[in-house]
Amino acid sequence: MKILIIEDEERIANTIKKGLQAEHFTVDTVYDGQTGYDMASGEDYDVIVLDRMLPKVDGIEICKRLRKEGSIVPVLMLTAKSQTEDKVEGLNCGADDYLTKPFSFDELVARIRALARRPHHTTEPVLQVRDLTLNVSTSQVVRNHEIIALSHREFALLEYLLRNKNRVLSKDHIIEHVWEYEADILPNTVEVTMRNLRNKIEKPFPQDQEIIKTIRGFGYIITEHV
Ligand code: CA
Repeated sequence: MKILIIEDEERIANTIKKGLQAEHFTVDTVYDGQTGYDMASGEDYDVIVLDRMLPKVDGIEICKRLRKEGSIVPVLMLTAKSQTEDKVEGLNCGADDYLTKPFSFDELVARIRALARRPHHTTEPVLQVRDLTLNVSTSQVVRNHEIIALSHREFALLEYLLRNKNRVLSKDHIIEHVWEYEADILPNTVEVTMRNLRNKIEKPFPQDQEIIKTIRGFGYIITEHV
C-alpha cells in the first residue's frame, strides 16, 4: 500500500515514514502544502496522512480541493489542537479520520489500515492465491504451510500483484505503486525484484505451479488458474 505524508515538521514526517516502511508500506513524504497538494492530486495513493497546519496551503484547504476534484482517497488529518470545533472543521472538509498530536504510532497504523479497508478499496486482511497467503496485518507470507521471509520491496510487489489479481500490470504501473516517487527506478529494477521474489515464492516449491506469470511485452499477472 502506498501512503503520502504531508507534514512540515520533518522530524515527525520522517519518523512516521520509517515506522510505516517497517510495516511494509511504501511511503512518500512532502513538507509543504503546495507540493503536498500537487502530489496528492497527481499520484495514486491508498491513504494520505495530512497535517492540519502547513506552510503555503493548509491541510483543510488541501482536503477541500481534493474532494472538489472528485478524489475519494482516504485522508487522515493530524493536528496539534484538540478542540472540538477543529475536529468538526477537519471532518467537514472531507477528511475521513482525525488524530490529535501527540499520538501513538500503533494507533496511527491501526487507523491507516482501517481507512484502507473502506469499501472502495478491495482490501482484505489476508490476500490469497492458491496455496499462498499474504497477511497484511501481520506482514506474513505463507505458502504450503511454510513461512517465507521477503524484503520490504518484494512484499510490496507481491501485495500489489495480489490486490490486482487477474489484471495484467505493466512495469510502469508497478513502479508507480511499489516504489517511492523520488526513487529513480529503471524497468530492469522491476525485473530484478521480480526474480528475487520468484526465487522465494516459487523456486522452493518445485512441485507447485508458478504464482506469477510473465506476459511478454505487457507485464505480469497473478491468476487463480494456471
Ligand atoms: Ca504543521
